[in-house]
Amino acid sequence: MQQLSCVETCSSRLGIDLDALRANYRTLADRVAPARCGAVVKANAYGLGATRVGSALYREGCRAFFVAQLAEAAPLMRAVGADATIFILHGLDPASEASCAAAGAVPVLNSLSQVSRWRAYARKLGYPLPAALHIDSGMSRLGLAAEDAIALAADPARVGELDLHLLMTHLACADEPDCATNEEQLAVFRRVAAHFPGLPLSIANSGGAFLPAAFHGQLARPGVALFGVDPGPHARGLRPVVRLDARVLQIRTIAAGTGVGYGLDHIAPATQRLATIALGYADGWPRSLGVGAGAAWHRGIRLPIVGRVSMDSLTVDISALPEDELAEGEFVQFLGPSQSLADVAHDAGTIAYEILTRLGARHARILVEDAAAEVVLPGDI
Ligand SMILES: *Cc1c(COP(=O)(O)O)cnc(C)c1O
Repeated sequence: MQQLSCVETCSSRLGIDLDALRANYRTLADRVAPARCGAVVKANAYGLGATRVGSALYREGCRAFFVAQLAEAAPLMRAVGADATIFILHGLDPASEASCAAAGAVPVLNSLSQVSRWRAYARKLGYPLPAALHIDSGMSRLGLAAEDAIALAADPARVGELDLHLLMTHLACADEPDCATNEEQLAVFRRVAAHFPGLPLSIANSGGAFLPAAFHGQLARPGVALFGVDPGPHARGLRPVVRLDARVLQIRTIAAGTGVGYGLDHIAPATQRLATIALGYADGWPRSLGVGAGAAWHRGIRLPIVGRVSMDSLTVDISALPEDELAEGEFVQFLGPSQSLADVAHDAGTIAYEILTRLGARHARILVEDAAAEVVLPGDI
């Protein structure tokens, strides 16, 4: 009851459909089979909560999880079973060897210095340490150069120091199926992989999962597609996972010539009915969506944002709604059937990833799983 009353009083509600998340995992797993399907849950599972997302994916059969930082591994480890592997995409921060080994996480070694620090720590312990090896096949972001990896493959001491789980690379243009660099990167990666016979290969992020099977290797690493964002033109069958509604704080009618919001950037061209909504840039709603760029929706009707987005609120023009259609205290939709993450990203001049990961911690979260809804209050996640 206490939770319910808080949903009634909360300013905004972020709905997270864990059933849809699990269905998306199945879609991706079917798509890349017989390769296995892992899950990238970095940045607190793209902002949605790594514990609940990780646990739902684990129950759907996922056994390989990827986070960016070692600090992200601990909450995830508590949420998944001991038979899951947690890979750290950033590899080994300086002096983190002991904590990484103690956590039982598997660093994705990205540079020669990371390799040599992990090997030195293994020599100190007297047994080989688990690792993935990341090859830079042409993106110039993270990973060993091909020749350095080939030299490492030939080093006989390596086997006693590194227990390699995975050989990995990352595509720069996986979301563009016709981009020639995908094949070029694959060729570089395969040349290196030939020196590591039998080692499982991992290439595909979400976009890569929708490329031909040659890009799937033995383990795919989708992230954003799990959360219902289409990673490219060939993506099919993904279900939206998030929904965002925010409350009407106040409704007013203004006369032509009246200014709205900071800087009075919007001046009403005619009489306008406005609703001030409890959603701002501190809630992850981009400030760039102010002054005519974005909108809220109510019963299929677009309500354009007018004036600048404030920290905790924004204002929409509700003149298109019948007078009695929307009242103070009711909710309007920002993400849902009328407006997708991709739509918002388009309006804000960014990508759906950025909108999703910034949704922030202040919303009440409604987690739906097995047709039951659970409320997680702001600050509790
Ligand atoms: C973030 C990331 C992924 C997941 O990417 P999506 O595009 O979200 O599927 C996979 N691999 C690496 C190395 C990453 O950094």
